[in-house]
Amino acid sequence: MASNSVRIAVLPGDGIGTEVTEATLAVLDPLARRHGIGLSTEALPAGAFHYQATGDAFPEASFRAAESADAILLGAMGWPGIRQADGTEIAPQLDLRFRLGLYAGVRPVRAIPGVPVALADPRAATIDFVLVRESTEGLFHSRGKGLVTQDLAEETLRITRATTEKLSRFSFRLAERRAARLGRAGRVTLVDKANVFRAFAFMRAVFDEVATEFPGVESGHHYVDAMALDLVRRPWAYDVLPTENMFGDILSDLAAGLVGGMGFSPSADIGDEHAVFQPAHGTAPDIAGQGIANPAAMLLSASMMLDWLASRGAGQGFADAAAELDAAVDAAFAGGLRTTDIGGGDGTAAVVRAVQAQLGG
Ligand code: ATP
Ligand code: MG
Repeated sequence: MASNSVRIAVLPGDGIGTEVTEATLAVLDPLARRHGIGLSTEALPAGAFHYQATGDAFPEASFRAAESADAILLGAMGWPGIRQADGTEIAPQLDLRFRLGLYAGVRPVRAIPGVPVALADPRAATIDFVLVRESTEGLFHSRGKGLVTQDLAEETLRITRATTEKLSRFSFRLAERRAARLGRAGRVTLVDKANVFRAFAFMRAVFDEVATEFPGVESGHHYVDAMALDLVRRPWAYDVLPTENMFGDILSDLAAGLVGGMGFSPSADIGDEHAVFQPAHGTAPDIAGQGIANPAAMLLSASMMLDWLASRGAGQGFADAAAELDAAVDAAFAGGLRTTDIGGGDGTAAVVRAVQAQLGG
């Protein structure tokens, strides 16, 4: 990538995906100008309604354009009642994960000042951890090709050394960066089920090997069932939590519920060369078209994108813009902004205005 100038492939998708994408671009544009960074965006067709119109959910031309961009920003895709010919859901975002090898599903879980948290304990205001969901294997390995006969159905759990090493290294490096920013020691806790499945004992052994490369970061393990309890009892005690695909899928919804819900849950799917940034929520057909979707999750995802681009050499301006965007979202909610998903009356446009105002208009 050319320093200080990047190309972003934008896949708005369906439903509120298109609404939060538009809102996010309206904030990114002036933010980029302010920081003197070059962000060119190209919107690409894909998703359920594109499938309905053309019979193709994810045109190869869109995939290629996304693949050749510096980063991919995605809204949300899928729609009830629109399914592929084989009955499966339309999910180009899953194709991207598998085709681009995006093994690390990064889900930051952070209490935003002013946004109600689910727990009464005052320490809940300090919740700040990151789930790193392995996204290419685990229990999703046999996705779409599991064995189903008249009498049984079977799916395969796969854990590989190569992916576990990458996932572990990614998690330790993330903990190092967070430790530097937060001014405290980093801690990585693998979430597994090593007491029951040999595949997870293997995953744990590989994780422990990688841990020795990072003596400055604390490392540990926790069984997934105990973690489900702890995420409700003392989520503020955790830092970086790598885990298997299905466990991460479930725990990330639980985690989102701790800090204001899906409208506040950003995510990134990161591989060695590519990365997709998208809100953790779906297309929300129940509220689509009403102008009330909360774009905070996508704004925070866009901030993760800027930060990742900075880590790839795009320039310090990208890291500064990311930090400023996070701070602007925080300040907007701390200043009284209340979206409808948390019981307020502020719609998508009000969030854009409030965040833009924090960014200096
Ligand atoms: P998927 O099938 O991809 O999980 P979904 O359609 O089930 O998607 P979710 O994203 O899981 O939708 O969200 C569930 C509900 O939460 C939505 O139907 C909507 O009411 C609410 N919701 C989700 N995201 C937002 C948002 N950004 N703003 C406001 N409400 C939201
Ligand atoms: Mg859902």
